[in-house]
Amino acid sequence: MKYLDEYRDERLAHAVVAEIARQTTRPWVLMEICGGQTHTIMRYGLDELLPRGLELVHGPGCPVCVTPLETIDKAIALALRPDVILVSYGDMLRVPGSRSDLFRAKAQGADVRVAYSPTEAVKIARANPARNVVFLAIGFETTAPANAMAAWQARREGLKNFSMLVSHVLVPPAIRALMVSGANRVQGFIAPGHVCTVMGCSEYDSLVRDFRVPIVVGGFEPLDLLESVLMLVRQLEAGEARLENQYVRSVSYAGNVPAQRIMQEVFEVADQKWRGIGMIPLSGLRLRDEYAAYDANRTFDLEELTVEEPAECISAQVLQGLKKPTDCPVFGMRCTPENPLGAPMVSSEGACAAYYHYRRHAVAS
Ligand code: SF4
Repeated sequence: MKYLDEYRDERLAHAVVAEIARQTTRPWVLMEICGGQTHTIMRYGLDELLPRGLELVHGPGCPVCVTPLETIDKAIALALRPDVILVSYGDMLRVPGSRSDLFRAKAQGADVRVAYSPTEAVKIARANPARNVVFLAIGFETTAPANAMAAWQARREGLKNFSMLVSHVLVPPAIRALMVSGANRVQGFIAPGHVCTVMGCSEYDSLVRDFRVPIVVGGFEPLDLLESVLMLVRQLEAGEARLENQYVRSVSYAGNVPAQRIMQEVFEVADQKWRGIGMIPLSGLRLRDEYAAYDANRTFDLEELTVEEPAECISAQVLQGLKKPTDCPVFGMRCTPENPLGAPMVSSEGACAAYYHYRRHAVAS
């Protein structure tokens, strides 16, 4: 398939692997930020092709994994109200909250519907004027423009029965939080190509400068990731720290300016709690005051909750690259995709699910 097969070419991949081995003289720890990149690495066994000492650790870039427990609990509480239709992306339904999940709420009679885009939720609101339609708007900078567009459209139409429960997170503040953490081991980052398709690369300049850490914006196919690793290794071995763009077929320095404009019109930057990690200053988006009528937190006067993670789940360390899923004592035993204890085992982008699906669980069992 054009634009796919050439990025999965085995002969080319082995040539890049050989060049990585030739360039690597010392151990390095690199982090791929995005869960989609983690899945490619696990699926194709890319980490096993790298020279000893060149370690890939997995970052917090799985939107389902970092959505706070409190948001899931609020979504369940809203879904159980008889006047509410709760609309969500499908992979959020199985994410455990503190006591239940949206699937179980649906089994209890809640009107929970799956959508592939937020504009479907707007359509449902138009078709059901007597019900309140709440869209669970989660994700990184990639989903924010479409979610912003749904709020903008609802406001333009004057819809009174549509709102969003927003839990948006931003990548650059998360990288900054990882770098200032005393436990950080990461020496180079593969930044998420899809986020940068929207936001451009420019936001990463200050991270490179402030922390003297190389960052390569990378794609999602095996050759994208191997080339990104090679670019990082070349910089590290030469003692350099620069921002480079491997994913040039999709990412420009400025990004998608119209998408950024709609995000800025509807959302403002705010402090945000990340599941498993905690509060990261200015790392999220919330609806601006002009859009307060579309903010489910305000229209339903939802209480601020604080809930504890299951004690056995080490997803905080997994999401910060401090531990691997197989270090978790319940991985593949008490925690499986069928019975997940934590969000990284639920999501199609979660690191624990990636290790499980691609048979790395043999290590733990
Ligand atoms: S295996 Fe399960 S319990 Fe362990 S860190 Fe992953 S999600 Fe949490």
